[in-house]
Amino acid sequence: MRIGVLNGRTVIVDGQRAVDVADASNGRFGPAPAAVYDAWTEFSEWAATAPTPNGTPYDSSALENPVPEPRQIFAIGLNYAEHAAESHYAVPEFPPVFTKYRSSLAGPRGEVELAGPKVDWEVELVAVIGRPAHRVPESEGWNYVAGLTVGQDISERETQFAATPPQFSLGKSFPGFSPVGPVLVTVDELADPDDLELGCDINGEQVQKGRTSEMIFSVPQLVSRLSHITPLLAGDLIFTGTPAGVGLGRTPQRFLAAGDVLRSYIAGIGEIEQTFVQGQ
Ligand code: ZN
Repeated sequence: MRIGVLNGRTVIVDGQRAVDVADASNGRFGPAPAAVYDAWTEFSEWAATAPTPNGTPYDSSALENPVPEPRQIFAIGLNYAEHAAESHYAVPEFPPVFTKYRSSLAGPRGEVELAGPKVDWEVELVAVIGRPAHRVPESEGWNYVAGLTVGQDISERETQFAATPPQFSLGKSFPGFSPVGPVLVTVDELADPDDLELGCDINGEQVQKGRTSEMIFSVPQLVSRLSHITPLLAGDLIFTGTPAGVGLGRTPQRFLAAGDVLRSYIAGIGEIEQTFVQGQ
């Protein structure tokens, strides 16, 4: 199942058609996305069995952030060995965790203001929590995930490294720095949710390409480790880290410029696209 948001209402997307969840369920679920995630277990049971109408044609470029109101956003640093190496860090024994503040969330397409001189890209798989998770064993981690979506952990490196220790959360939370979408794809839709190709390109030139099977801490491991400290809530997001190829790790370093178009994709999920504009 592929879940999207159109005009602030939750929809089930099937090919070129979209079914309004609130209408199809006679108001039992939605229309607000947060209400659907809060009732995710019941909703997914209903969606699997209810006779769904054909839906109506929709404009895929109108899809909005599928999870606009998470209560918590976790982000994982250095979760790919090659990215840790290009960042001059050792491979971590415990995943370094920071947050991306909620006001930085954005939909799958749009303009992002260049908030400083060193705006960098980080394509990431984003896991969306589907039910409250506390002290979950790794073997059950996937059972707490509603689905997966594409994210960018856009980072302004000058702000990130302006303090000691580095202030990851601030440097990665300017407006528009956390775009996600275009849809949430449930885990059962993916042949192997632990091995998805992801990457991004700038103006058509590929700059990152990896596989989520290369993650040091897998999605179930992250759900387990995080939930042993902080109870996870339905609709929470986990940005799971980025593969190698960011601008900071290049020689010479490279950062985004006004007019650049950043396209990020995960095979089997979809793609998002951001256009960068000059800051004020
Ligand atoms: Zn990141």
